[in-house]
Amino acid sequence: MNQLSYVHQDQSAWNNYLTQLDRVAPYLEDLNDQLDTLKRPKRAMIVNIPVEMDDGTIRHFEGFRVQHSLTRGPGKGGVRFHPCVDLNEVMALSAWMTIKCAAIDLPFGGAKGGVRVDPSLLSKRELERLTRRYTAEINNIIGPQKDIPAPDVGTNAQVMAWMMDTYSMNAGSTVTGVVTGKPVHLGGSLGRSKATGRGVFITGNEIAAKIQLKIQQAKVCVQGFGNVGAEAAYLFAQAGAKIICIQDHSATLYQEDGIDIEALQHYQHTHGKIQGYCPNNEIESTQFWKIPAEIFIPAALENVISPEIAQSIQTRLILEGSNGPTLAAADDILAKRHITLVPDVICNAGGVTVSYFEWVQDLASFFWSEDEINQRLDRIMCHAINTVWDKALDKNCSLRTAAYIVACERILIARKERGTYPG
Ligand code: NAD
Repeated sequence: MNQLSYVHQDQSAWNNYLTQLDRVAPYLEDLNDQLDTLKRPKRAMIVNIPVEMDDGTIRHFEGFRVQHSLTRGPGKGGVRFHPCVDLNEVMALSAWMTIKCAAIDLPFGGAKGGVRVDPSLLSKRELERLTRRYTAEINNIIGPQKDIPAPDVGTNAQVMAWMMDTYSMNAGSTVTGVVTGKPVHLGGSLGRSKATGRGVFITGNEIAAKIQLKIQQAKVCVQGFGNVGAEAAYLFAQAGAKIICIQDHSATLYQEDGIDIEALQHYQHTHGKIQGYCPNNEIESTQFWKIPAEIFIPAALENVISPEIAQSIQTRLILEGSNGPTLAAADDILAKRHITLVPDVICNAGGVTVSYFEWVQDLASFFWSEDEINQRLDRIMCHAINTVWDKALDKNCSLRTAAYIVACERILIARKERGTYPG
């Protein structure tokens, strides 16, 4: 890859991020001369991961860790195990972490990692060997004060436990603060696994009140029924909303009078997918975005809301549970149609916020109750969404651009104050 080739790939996640950044430039005034620093990752590592499979053969997997910005603190961001992971996607995800941590005002930069693999095709032992070798390969650039990985699509608390153990074996002592999203008895935080979905609900609730949308009886469609989508669906259902459509990789489930979320969660835990839960209510996947509903929650992968979908979707509120679900051109159409969109960098920041709590607890070796964690999370999320809402009103711009203005101002002021090394 030549030095700049990644900057110009059309339709790529990275290109989408660059377009979002371009939209902030006119609002940054004299900080604009610092904006270039956010247009390239600080550090990107590509690693080869040889893994001995259970049948004795060796397979090679490609892995990545990208640190987009370390200006405001150590890198923070998940690790994705997915067959489509590539450098471009990981760069974009790392950049969104930079913006997200700054928009929420956490003392972190942005990072992300990934391995191109379908984890469902590996045995548990193969997955462990892959995770440990990946961790060993990126060992030198991660650490509690350098870069702190966490779970993302295709990874979970068990994967984090293996990463923590591998890093600790190399360090010669137990270093719990090297990753977040760990099991609770290994230094994980109470409330972490539900935090992202909870954040989606908190921000949704806050914004719904501002646009006079009643959550009770509101119809909601959720794409993705994993860590984020399932918890968000559960909390909206608890608040009286009707979850009428849920889509995952296996099926699209539609039920006019509302899906029983707890029963579906139970089915999903046993079967690993929603397909088969209620075959009579399964519809074509292409129907998902055509269903009229007050709220849509994309909570699967990026680049799913195209300009065509933005033009036809019948909704009032879109809550970006996933990272980068909306193409920049679709953003403009949604704004013109007065459809409110709460951007990923605020909406799904509950996870990284409780990851921050986990890191703080690990460093202090002093742990908080779940109530304390949820209260702090609610306070931070509400404060962030209100700051962004006020900025959007003040600048007459979308919530995404407002979140980028808030975040970029914080990062670029810090960048300016730090200066350029060597001076
Ligand atoms: P997950 O692996 O737990 O769940 C992903 C869900 O998406 C699954 O239900 C899967 O079936 C579904 N899915 C995959 N491909 C699909 C497709 N083509 N069509 C429809 N559904 C599909 O992942 P997660 O942790 O819930 O993460 C979901 C999104 O939220 C990702 O974009 C991730 O980066 C983002 N996110 C996650 C967290 C977190 O704490 N887990 C935090 C912030 C952002």
